[in-house]
Amino acid sequence: MSKSLIEPNLVVISSRYMDNNSYIIFNKKEAIVIDPSFSGNEIIDNINNDIKVVGVLLTHAHFDHCLDTAMIVDKWHCPVYVHEGDKDTYFKYRYDELADMKVKDFAKSIKWFNTKKLSIGSFELNVMHTPGHSAGSVVYQYNNWFFVGDTLFYNSYGRTDLGNSSPIDMIKSLNRLWKELKDNNLILPGHNKWGLFKEVKQANWMVQDIIKK
Ligand SMILES: [Zn+2]
Repeated sequence: MSKSLIEPNLVVISSRYMDNNSYIIFNKKEAIVIDPSFSGNEIIDNINNDIKVVGVLLTHAHFDHCLDTAMIVDKWHCPVYVHEGDKDTYFKYRYDELADMKVKDFAKSIKWFNTKKLSIGSFELNVMHTPGHSAGSVVYQYNNWFFVGDTLFYNSYGRTDLGNSSPIDMIKSLNRLWKELKDNNLILPGHNKWGLFKEVKQANWMVQDIIKK
């Protein structure tokens, strides 16, 4: 695992396995965890005792993004926010054959949502529904930070050959991101590298290839 402070109040913990990024955002005495992934212990170690986690956000419900969610829920008894488009993803794909890993069930803590805004404790976030990689994939925006999950990577985009993917929806979602994101927005993907949108645009010939010119 490796940990870095990207900006004040924004921490990323990257797992060696599959290079998943888990993010923690802080606001005074509250925190939100995005995609706990394989990093449950490290996330807990990086949140001081006087800080309360008020929610877990999943960019989508694939096992590698939510494996350690139950650890966070057990410690802070907080809700888990998942877009309702990913109900199928959650219930059908909690076990990964290849990795032989099963996600500990946290269905009782899930708040399924289908809204453009979320108010969680002192946090106000915007949500963009960006189906394609999975039906309920979303982008969460807080401040200038865009948690894009597996919809967009620094120099590629998420797989669209999985059980609940749609290549057509992916093209629409990427077009939307290209239209709505600004050069100075910080793009924080579910795997690997992060960077400003202007850098992602430059590096990402794979997306440039498929979006409308
Ligand atoms: Zn995924």
